[in-house]
Amino acid sequence: MRKYVVRFAAIGAFLGAGLGAAALVQQARHHGRAAATTPITVAKPKPHPKPVQRPKGPHDAPVPILMYHVLANPPANAPYPELYVRPADFAAQVRWLAGQGYHAVSLRRVYDFWRGRRVLPPKPIVLSFDDGYHTDFTVALPVLRARHWAGVLNLEVRNLEPVWGTRPGMVRKMIAAGWEVDAHTLTHPDLTKVGPDRLKQEVAGSRAAIRRRFGVPVDFFCYPSGRYDDAVVAAVKAAGYLGATTTNEGLATPRNLFTLNRVRVSGTDGVDGLRRKLAVASAA
Ligand SMILES: [Zn+2]
Repeated sequence: MRKYVVRFAAIGAFLGAGLGAAALVQQARHHGRAAATTPITVAKPKPHPKPVQRPKGPHDAPVPILMYHVLANPPANAPYPELYVRPADFAAQVRWLAGQGYHAVSLRRVYDFWRGRRVLPPKPIVLSFDDGYHTDFTVALPVLRARHWAGVLNLEVRNLEPVWGTRPGMVRKMIAAGWEVDAHTLTHPDLTKVGPDRLKQEVAGSRAAIRRRFGVPVDFFCYPSGRYDDAVVAAVKAAGYLGATTTNEGLATPRNLFTLNRVRVSGTDGVDGLRRKLAVASAA
């Protein structure tokens, strides 16, 4: 399996140049009055309007978790062009998924299903977006919100700052639209190569930072570049996470809560590639 290391400087230079403040201002105006406050306590889940339905039969079915990175046309000199999915391709993939009867849900919903606490829609799927690029806000959010679908942002805390990153105001609007925010460390190191103090800081510290800043639970973790070993998994468990996602290809199952498989969506996939990858993952 190929492992990508995202070159932040390169991607940042491209996005910073190509996507101006005007578009963001327009987005912000258009989407109006989302939560402007920063709660300091972890928000309690909203009460459900209907009583929660528990699954009646088996509740260990595997669920696909798609993995996206940047939703933009790849720049000519992009070091990792496969990390870029064109916005039109993303919209077509979501349209195709909906046409196939899929419903995007949060990882928390999947976890609750596996624990027998709550039913899932008939064909559940998780759409996860790694690192924190502002195209999560400008491209993914409106496409998913039009279907009342939740996305999952795997946030590298450092990416709240740069102009090409998911700025805090964007993250708040995504949370208000039902997105789940999970932790993807503070600075995206290879966690198998850092010492115990740094490991704890990156794993537990990112959870604490996101909880403090946005008042959301941050119950799931995503390994940077899919790198983990026993010590890394132990640190993730010790930090109180309920599960963690990898870059291993396949469907996620409750047998591997701390090494959940995903399905990587690459720039050349389009709808056909996504269909093929889902079929391969489901047949495994
Ligand atoms: Zn990453």
